Amino acid sequence: GGPGQEVDHTFKILLVGDSGVGKSSLLLRFATGGFEELTPTIGVDFKAKVVDIDGRRVKLTIWDTAGQERFRTLTSSYYRGAQGIILVYDVTRAETFDSLADIWLREVDMYNTVEEGIKMVVANKTDLGEQREVSTEQGVAFARAHGCLFVETSAKGNVAVDQAFEELVHKILETP
Ligand code: GDP
Repeated sequence: GGPGQEVDHTFKILLVGDSGVGKSSLLLRFATGGFEELTPTIGVDFKAKVVDIDGRRVKLTIWDTAGQERFRTLTSSYYRGAQGIILVYDVTRAETFDSLADIWLREVDMYNTVEEGIKMVVANKTDLGEQREVSTEQGVAFARAHGCLFVETSAKGNVAVDQAFEELVHKILETP
């Protein structure tokens, strides 16, 4: 079908995680295929992308905190109605991994009001292998313990970024 064709589903996807982990870069990479050194911006931003997955045409509206997280002012409205939540950490900064449990997962569970909202943990910046502070095994164990999908990515190197979003959408589609 052409670009004007109707979609079968529209899903709201959120990116959460500490400042600097690569949320905006993952969104930019997935939505436009590019990567730029980003200057921090303030305010919630989103991009839309239509993807064909499992024979279905799905419109994704992907929301990025765009710096708001630094002020701890994400509110319930940001989380409301999200079918998919991507919790991002930076494999070179262990404190961003700890924040998933200490802050982000708690906030998601408190505010996300779509039952069975699918959660995915994304371990970003795998291109910086020598600076790694969080192992794959730690990421896998954390995701499993909290019922989340898990993917390791590099927004910079364009490694597994599309795969992460596609896996998430696939899981949302197959969840009743
Ligand atoms: P956000 O605050 O979570 O939205 O993070 P940004 O997307 O603004 O990224 C923070 C910094 O990390 C920027 O300088 C990015 O260029 C850089 N960055 C993002 N993803 C990657 C990655 O996969 N690898 C590397 N090496 N740098 C990245």
